[in-house]
Amino acid sequence: MDVPTISLPDGTPIPALGVGTWGYAEQPARRDDEIASLRAALDEGLTLVDTAEMYADGGAEDLVGEALDGRRDEAFVVDKVLPGDADRRGTHAACERALRRLRTDRIDLYLLHWRGRHPLAETVAAFEELRADGKIRAWGVSNLDADELDELVDVPAGTGVATDQVLYNLTRRGPEWDLLPWARDHRLPLMAYSPVEQGRLLDEPALRDVADRHGATPAQVAIAWVLGHPGVAAIPKTATPARVAENRGALDLHLTEDDHATLDATFPPPDRKRALEIL
Ligand code: NDP
Repeated sequence: MDVPTISLPDGTPIPALGVGTWGYAEQPARRDDEIASLRAALDEGLTLVDTAEMYADGGAEDLVGEALDGRRDEAFVVDKVLPGDADRRGTHAACERALRRLRTDRIDLYLLHWRGRHPLAETVAAFEELRADGKIRAWGVSNLDADELDELVDVPAGTGVATDQVLYNLTRRGPEWDLLPWARDHRLPLMAYSPVEQGRLLDEPALRDVADRHGATPAQVAIAWVLGHPGVAAIPKTATPARVAENRGALDLHLTEDDHATLDATFPPPDRKRALEIL
């Protein structure tokens, strides 16, 4: 099936399933596989590529630039500025560095990686300037809980936020209490990071049970579960090219009510507010 899309608040469609790059560019022996994985992702239509200046200290941005060389227009590139850099001048400087490493003239979606000491208003002002300059197409945040999104939309131009990228998977269901409802009410798409809990979910018997019912794999179950939530994208990371196709296979998996009951029994939904978790 075609890769489904979700819409940014301005109507721009983005793939609901993309790929992450945390951990890339840290082991020279894996570099070829990392580049091959990103190119396989483009081939599979998983064209949303998530990176950050933090990853390998700019090395992941550089690797993404190499992998996308000649194919930049196929990709929707998400990048993140570190909170320590996210004052007005620092955000501009970080963006310029990122553009150079990514070998491109624009970032499709630029996020504040997590909240730091600089006022949100200042970061948003810098994002808006970068957008006006055409250096970024849209901006958003990461690791902000619902109350912080309330603060964000109150700063000048804060309603321009295009996504919140957060930790959300079967073992981290806290966002269902108030963040998912907040996002739905404000038509804000969410991006779920670590959808397979960095691999730790894959040996869980409940996932194996559900996977066996469908002739699927536990990773496919974990990703399909995330994608079952409207307005939520997932960005699993793999440096193993064959796993790109496997993860894409999650799109063909439709979980039944019985499957959900099995998963809920092991991973119950939240019964109270829990602070947003961060990895
Ligand atoms: P993931 O949940 O995506 O797990 C990645 C791990 O799972 C890797 O070790 C990978 O192994 C393994 N894996 C992936 N697919 C399979 C599969 N089909 N079968 C078996 N193992 C598999 O964790 P991440 O933390 O990497 O999250 C995804 C992305 O989200 C990051 O790469 C990053 O881009 C973003 N992120 C953002 C954060 C933020 O603060 N905004 C924080 C954390 C992540 P291998 O690579 O060896 O194949």
